[in-house]
Amino acid sequence: MGDNIKVVADATCTFCGCVCDDMVLTVDLDQKRITKSENACVLGKAWFKEHAIEERPFALVDGREATTDEGVEAAAQILANARFPVVYGLSDTTCEAQKVAVAIADMVGGCLDTTTSVCHGPTGIAFQSGGESTASLGEIKNRADLVVFWGGNPAEAHPRLFTRYAVTAKGMYTPNGRKDRTIVLVDVRRTPSTPVADIFLQVKPRTDFEVLWALRALVKGRKIDPSIEQRTGVSLAVLEDLVDRMKRCRYGALLFGMGLTMNRGRHFNAGAILALATDLNEFTHFVAKPVRGHGNVTGADNVVSWQTGFPFGVNFSRGYPRFNPGEFTTADLLSRGDADAALIIASDPASNFPKAAIEHLKRIPVINLDPKLTHTGRLARVSFTTATYGINVPGTVYRMDDVPITLRPAFDSPYPSDEQVLTAIRDRVRELLGGNRVPAGEALAGVAVS
Ligand code: SF4
Repeated sequence: MGDNIKVVADATCTFCGCVCDDMVLTVDLDQKRITKSENACVLGKAWFKEHAIEERPFALVDGREATTDEGVEAAAQILANARFPVVYGLSDTTCEAQKVAVAIADMVGGCLDTTTSVCHGPTGIAFQSGGESTASLGEIKNRADLVVFWGGNPAEAHPRLFTRYAVTAKGMYTPNGRKDRTIVLVDVRRTPSTPVADIFLQVKPRTDFEVLWALRALVKGRKIDPSIEQRTGVSLAVLEDLVDRMKRCRYGALLFGMGLTMNRGRHFNAGAILALATDLNEFTHFVAKPVRGHGNVTGADNVVSWQTGFPFGVNFSRGYPRFNPGEFTTADLLSRGDADAALIIASDPASNFPKAAIEHLKRIPVINLDPKLTHTGRLARVSFTTATYGINVPGTVYRMDDVPITLRPAFDSPYPSDEQVLTAIRDRVRELLGGNRVPAGEALAGVAVS
């Protein structure tokens, strides 16, 4: 370790949607790396350790090393000449960068989509039809005496959700922490999260909707046939006991993951759990929240919603935003071979999209922004190295409970931020298009564009 050491208190980990903002980071400024991350879980420690500054080209254009400016010119030419580009990713960057990405998609008349379309997209759809009984994680920590985790494995995916907020955390009305809460886990299999639960409901795969609808019926005092057990694997007695506990608790929380939303039923499942929370509010206070994965995927939902009116999968090709998941969502769009260019920000679809979509990405010009060289970066025609949000870049992110948090970066990066690169691309595209389109954010803010 060098002599030039700095300690950053109240820094933020952006590895997962918990966005823990109580990190104490020890930074070796000579070596430009974080040597210690107090309060981080095992995932957070790995995140901070991995983001030392690596020597990489600022940009690659057709595989050749280039400056950021050369990359911006090449990217702007691709976007200005495309007939139907897609802008995708955005869940691991700041809200400031997300806003510029929306403006680019609007200006070029393309599609705008985020990784929400492959995780909690069904929840976004369900919100629009049924609303959300919501709460902050702080409220859940301070008040919830019954917490139901449905279709998720926080012990491995969001480790501090248990300790900081929803299981062992001590709150104003839960002074004894774990002893003051009943924890219920619903899943199709046992996971490392299961031992945390007082009650574990192992449902048969693809029957979450039936279980949720049976719970709704029981909450409303309807009769349920005992054959529900053959269908779902959960006996009527267990369901009745759970409903009794849910009605009697002081404050209940339903926290649901992708095991519910990316399952048979999708937005019907998400709608069912949101409706169950609404039903329970006839008897006590109940909330339902999706547990979000990426560090600022919730910010992406917020920014895209307040700029376009829709959370993801937005098409600007008619000059105004249209929303149609399945048609304008990136995996579907690429699989059909529709887009003729792609701007991918802080995401790696080439590593996890369907094969047909990846094959199409290989056929079209791709622009990629990422601190690391990813599969998508390797197939991109223009690939930018950018600084890491939260570690090198200030800005705003939204925790999974829609609480905005200001980032406190640990040390500077020689690389530009996503926002800086996107702003340069936006300005150059505007020049190339002759100012024919007005970015959504600026139009909404009433700012004239020359
Ligand atoms: S729970 Fe998530 S945000 Fe918190 S320290 Fe762990 S990885 Fe980081």
